[in-house]
Amino acid sequence: KWDSVPLAPADPIYKLTYAYKDDTYPQKVNLGVGAYRDDNSKPWVLPVVKKATDILLNDPALDHEYLPITGLPDFTNAAARLILGPDSPALLEGRVSSVQTISGTGANHLGGLFLSRFYRWDEGTPRVAYLSDPTWVNHFQIFRGVGIPPETYPYYDPATIGLAFDKYLAFLKSAPPRSVFVIHACAHNPTGVDPTREQWLQIAEVVLERGHYVFFDSAYQGFASGDLDADAWAVREFVKRGVPLLICQSFAKNAGLYGERVGALHIVSPSSEAAVRVKSQLAILTRSEISSPPAYGARVMALIMNNAELFEEWKRDIKTMAERIITMRKELRRLLTEELKTPGNWDHIVKQIGMFSFTGITTEQSLALTEKAHVYLTTNGRISMAGLNSHNVRYFAECLDKVVRG
Ligand code: PMP
Repeated sequence: KWDSVPLAPADPIYKLTYAYKDDTYPQKVNLGVGAYRDDNSKPWVLPVVKKATDILLNDPALDHEYLPITGLPDFTNAAARLILGPDSPALLEGRVSSVQTISGTGANHLGGLFLSRFYRWDEGTPRVAYLSDPTWVNHFQIFRGVGIPPETYPYYDPATIGLAFDKYLAFLKSAPPRSVFVIHACAHNPTGVDPTREQWLQIAEVVLERGHYVFFDSAYQGFASGDLDADAWAVREFVKRGVPLLICQSFAKNAGLYGERVGALHIVSPSSEAAVRVKSQLAILTRSEISSPPAYGARVMALIMNNAELFEEWKRDIKTMAERIITMRKELRRLLTEELKTPGNWDHIVKQIGMFSFTGITTEQSLALTEKAHVYLTTNGRISMAGLNSHNVRYFAECLDKVVRG
């Protein structure tokens, strides 16, 4: 039985985590994981989440009924305001269809599935989704899975360890009209390289000119700058300018609710009538896949987002995480350039934002870090800044210095 089923390769990120767990070396460092860690390398339960959880669990009216198919309205409405802004014209005009999803991954899947069923590609425009090169690797499987083959657009320039902006813009200009572009809303994974505001506006202009569809993936709102509104800036500008788009939203990182799978998909339509039709179809798709979404995390986030005091506390918690990461960026750069005088320019470490940093080191150097120094990272040289802390940053800088010197 199942003789013809080929063995699939293990997921590289999970493989890395298991290898790290099995390693008994005391100074081992895990820079592969895409989850926040505190200064003692421990997962961090946000104090505001603890508070909301206590309120929730002590509520005598709490039951375990199914949520509506499209999710908890108190959650989806607040989630839409969080990304689009409370005074978003699209929201006020009833043009946004918001549904709860299985975190950001589920939002990407549902968004992809919706496009595969309902998006009409022009004749001559290939039925593909353009992904940034590189991107979160799961994007490839997700789009393939819904029957929209992924292709890539230029994004990262290894020569500058920054954005390949001219090539990116030229690609947008030359892509057939009404193509679908998957764009990271902020804190690009894996590079940590985002467009500047000036560049975002140029991107919006070309996208509008060509009639492209923007599939925004927002997995790190608040994590890039420490400010929820600043990190939603690009999305809000695109909406304001009338770019046709949808947004995939995750609360895994900014609320530390990785396992609860809290997320939403927001599709912005040209009219409120269209939004009603879109939502009705999203409900059908959701029904056949998960019937109705999980309640717990959505309830926690609804409490936090709809209570002014808890909301302010959440913003402070987000700042705590973002600032610790920014401190680590500065310290790593300082150690490399000022103390160790490591060859090369390391300014990109502080220029990049969000949880990840593309160090610019080679595959061989990445492998050497893992094999010789017990530092676990993906072979593309990406490090999770959340894995660094005041106890291990010097060890990491010294190891990096050694592999760079060869
Ligand atoms: N998009 C991007 C770009 C991501 O980095 C991630 C998390 N690694 C996600 C979506 C989805 O994460 P989750 O399903 O945990 O919300």
